[in-house]
Amino acid sequence: MTDHDNSSSNRNHSDLSASVEKASPGAPDRRRVLIGIGALAAASAAPRGVFAQSNANDTDVLIIGGGIAGASTAFHLAEQGRDVILLERGEIASEASGQNMGGLGGNGWGNNPDLLSYLTAGGVEIFKRMQIELGYDMEFRLSGTLTAIHTDEQFEHFQDRVSSLRAQGYDLELLTPREARAIEPEANGELLGYQYSTQRGQADPVKSTRAFAHAAQVAGATINTGQNVTAITALSAGGYAVRTGSEEYRCQTLVLATGAWCGPVGEMLGIKVPIVPVRGQMWAGNCAPRGMISNSG
Ligand SMILES: Cc1cc2nc3c(=O)[nH]c(=O)nc-3n(C[C@H](O)[C@H](O)[C@H](O)COP(=O)(O)OP(=O)(O)OC[C@H]3O[C@@H](n4cnc5c(N)ncnc54)[C@H](O)[C@@H]3O)c2cc1C
Repeated sequence: MTDHDNSSSNRNHSDLSASVEKASPGAPDRRRVLIGIGALAAASAAPRGVFAQSNANDTDVLIIGGGIAGASTAFHLAEQGRDVILLERGEIASEASGQNMGGLGGNGWGNNPDLLSYLTAGGVEIFKRMQIELGYDMEFRLSGTLTAIHTDEQFEHFQDRVSSLRAQGYDLELLTPREARAIEPEANGELLGYQYSTQRGQADPVKSTRAFAHAAQVAGATINTGQNVTAITALSAGGYAVRTGSEEYRCQTLVLATGAWCGPVGEMLGIKVPIVPVRGQMWAGNCAPRGMISNSG
């Protein structure tokens, strides 16, 4: 989540924040399934303690998925005093959250913070808190990033973009190669220029995701790895039964934080989640020399 210049991305993120309430005729039905980015806010607003807990596998909120979405949701809900169980079929950060570029942030809050501002600038605040206040080493650095401009066409695009976003109060700059080299001595001085995104940085994705999961446990959440969810049943009395190979869990509120697998997990509930996995490629080199901001595009 690192950009801030088009409204269609805002629309998509809103769509992913679906909260699907199951209607049941007769008595009001308070059970909820929450999917995607808006799940934390929606789960926070869900009624508290309405589910009678009779054993260790019963909980108010059950989160499926131990990537950054599930781990962070578990932490924030547990910190608010909610009863939370997180189920992960592999290990924490064993899928997409553990294998990415580690880029973070956006262009700051802007004059009129919108959803993307909260997801980007807000995310940076959360990472600062985790590392600085709670003491987790996540290798988080708000270094800023440089995006190289190679052609006249790209220059025109970045010039318009930077001036339009700056007019809306966002923090980014268009630099000459000389100015860029003052920040990053290895930057190519022969290019046309650079976009400097001051509010972007990076963190180690595995360490970060594990930090959220650990913080969730410290706040009282139960994190169960090696639990592959194979079936979900909506209970007539309200809530859900969630089965794994070895256990059955019960909850009032269910959060699907299964990333690329929201489709098949949603199908267990008869919900069609329009997320399709697409395999990407990533290459990681040796550590950059000291002094490099090491996140140029
Ligand atoms: C610090 C950080 C920096 C990032 N930087 C970038 C970046 O620069 N560029 C970029 O493109 N992206 C970046 N990302 C985002 C990343 O690429 C992924 O999009 C994101 O982490 C996905 O998170 P997730 O929790 O939704 O999914 P995942 O991490 O895939 O987690 C979903 C989990 O659900 C589990 N699961 C699925 N089905 C079941 C089941 N039936 N039962 C139990 N468990 C199940 C999976 O095993 C998996 O662990 C970054 C992420 C982090 C954490």
